Amino acid sequence: MFLVVATKNQKKLGEIKEILRGFNFKLRSLADYGKTPDVVENGDTFKENAVKKALKLARFTGELTLGEDSGLCVDALDGRPGVYSSRFAGRSKSDEKNNQKLLRLLKCAPLKKRKAHYVCAVALADKQGLIGVVEGKCHGKIDFELKGKHGFGYDPLFLIPKFKKTFGQLDEKIKHKMSHRFRALMKAKKLLVKYIEKKKSN
Ligand code: IMP
Repeated sequence: MFLVVATKNQKKLGEIKEILRGFNFKLRSLADYGKTPDVVENGDTFKENAVKKALKLARFTGELTLGEDSGLCVDALDGRPGVYSSRFAGRSKSDEKNNQKLLRLLKCAPLKKRKAHYVCAVALADKQGLIGVVEGKCHGKIDFELKGKHGFGYDPLFLIPKFKKTFGQLDEKIKHKMSHRFRALMKAKKLLVKYIEKKKSN
């Protein structure tokens, strides 16, 4: 069975493929479908945006589809950038500018005031409609400077206190076993198993 991953973000796609490796689905991405409909990510929550992506692309592809929306929430900024994570510093969606803005806003904050968490929402849909939506979180702190080249987005600033390293510095295999995306996808796997069982019994 095919599972279409409804993202154009190659970094995210790579992570999703890696985390779902060995799972009994043939993964496809939007790149396999040429021109695909755009989804306006104007939901107030990660779940809302993930559901929109999954439903729209499942209708378009006719296949089982996974929609993903994720971002960073910083306690001292009342949860910002949240659903605006990719465009925090403007429409150009530049990771570098986003990270610089975050550092600027937290300039005077000591380490104990730099708590943050990533959120990842994963929605599953087929052409009949929504199957379910789940969420995973990963807690950490915002470091004082960019460190490391692994990952993407805010990873060079996202400090995992247990390792005293950012996701930018840690081996990606470690990220893939503890990230918000990993946690959401493990829950999504359970939904998929139930979905398959139901299909078989019909
Ligand atoms: P989306 O494509 O609208 O879901 O944008 C998600 C944005 O959140 C990305 O552009 C990153 O800025 C941030 N983000 C989400 N997940 C991660 C991650 O695993 N590492 C670093 N940044 C992330």
